[in-house]
Amino acid sequence: MDSIKKTTLEVVERDPSHQTLVRGGRLVTEEGIVFGDLLLGEGLILALGPDLSQEAQGAEIIEAKGSFVIPGAIDVHTHMELQQSPEHRSCDDFFQGSVAAALGGTTTLIDHIGFGPAGCPLHYAIDRYREKGKKAAVDYAFHGVLQHVNESILNELREIIQTEGIPSFKAYSTYAYPLSDHDLFQALRVMKEAKGLLTMHCENDAVTNLLKKEALARGNTEPIWQARTRPAACEKESISRLIDLSALSGGAPIYIVHTSTQEGVAAIQAGRARGIPVAMETCPQYLLLQEGAYTEHGPLEGLKYLMAPPLRSPADQEALWESLADGTCDTVATDHCPFPLEEKKVGEKNFSLAPGGCAGVQERLPLIYTHGVLPGRISLERMVALLCTNPAKIMGLYPQKGTLAVGSDADLVVLGPGSNRPIRAKEQATTCDYSIYEGWGNRLRIHRVISRGETIVKEGVFLGERGRGRFLKRWL
Ligand SMILES: [Zn+2]
Repeated sequence: MDSIKKTTLEVVERDPSHQTLVRGGRLVTEEGIVFGDLLLGEGLILALGPDLSQEAQGAEIIEAKGSFVIPGAIDVHTHMELQQSPEHRSCDDFFQGSVAAALGGTTTLIDHIGFGPAGCPLHYAIDRYREKGKKAAVDYAFHGVLQHVNESILNELREIIQTEGIPSFKAYSTYAYPLSDHDLFQALRVMKEAKGLLTMHCENDAVTNLLKKEALARGNTEPIWQARTRPAACEKESISRLIDLSALSGGAPIYIVHTSTQEGVAAIQAGRARGIPVAMETCPQYLLLQEGAYTEHGPLEGLKYLMAPPLRSPADQEALWESLADGTCDTVATDHCPFPLEEKKVGEKNFSLAPGGCAGVQERLPLIYTHGVLPGRISLERMVALLCTNPAKIMGLYPQKGTLAVGSDADLVVLGPGSNRPIRAKEQATTCDYSIYEGWGNRLRIHRVISRGETIVKEGVFLGERGRGRFLKRWL
């Protein structure tokens, strides 16, 4: 392991009593691991070096000897307090969800905002989320959402991307507002021209809906039919079509959320081979859980795992791990969207009536470390790329977030391996009463989580504040 070269930020005023020295840790970036000190002040990383004891006289000392220090993790796919239907709202609000995030080493959230009423302007949902987000305990941003497209929406889209610091918008191929090719193509042209990014939920709407209708008519109402009516080819078809539309638009950048299948990964690789700028996200649930979860412990237990896309086959899982290791996958996010078991039970007689989604914002880093890094599936540096650096780069937050560099926000996590403490829902900060990872091994110890220079988590205790999070403007 190399030592690091000293770099410092020239700041106008230096007040050591407000500075913190993170001493002697193994600093992990996507590029490698080095021994070194970090001097934090004014919310920023002021200096990096093999030994900053001279510069840090009078500063508070955080001993990181024997630990790793990584950039604060970024979760670019959450749904806090999402009104999914008139009856169901995801149970973590921006405060509770961000406390869970912080306890799991995540210091930045980018939330996918919910739909507004049919025909509403883009600002409708964004304005409401600006209010909701004010409760957050960690820094946050939003992806806008496209429900329909016309001349005035396209103008608004251009304006928001260029002046409001919200460059990414989500489109859905399914649910209440599936965008037609006509709408997608026009949105992509604006994305290309205005430096935006289209993120998309990709599943063929017509086929999944027909299969669902037929299954229910036959009396196939158990949770496993969520998986059987949303086959892998539906994901692949939708991804491939979006890639073609991007090509037709002149190569607008696109980002595939929660990629869950081997065929989806292959479609993304094929798109890249054609030069299309397509980024790939997957989530821990697709890496760790399989469709057997819908049946193994009976249909009632299976309801817990209802989500779209559904859990997949062991072969899909293998392909996803491979995509993490070989660089195809860019980010691991969570799609955190929890509903209490009582609400999931609405699907007892008809799986399609249950709200879709699960908690995961707190478990992500422990799970990827324990089940990805420790068994050698990916390196620690690769984990940092997937959870911290790539999300920042792709979503327009780099180098403010996502790295350990002089001048970056002082968001970091001091962590290391420990004995196994399995995940228990009752020990998680989410307001959800179960975890799809109940009993899963956790060998990660998060000693400290630091957000803009302040410790917000120490040895499992949340020390942050409601509303301390700042809205982040992003530019691509
Ligand atoms: Zn989602």
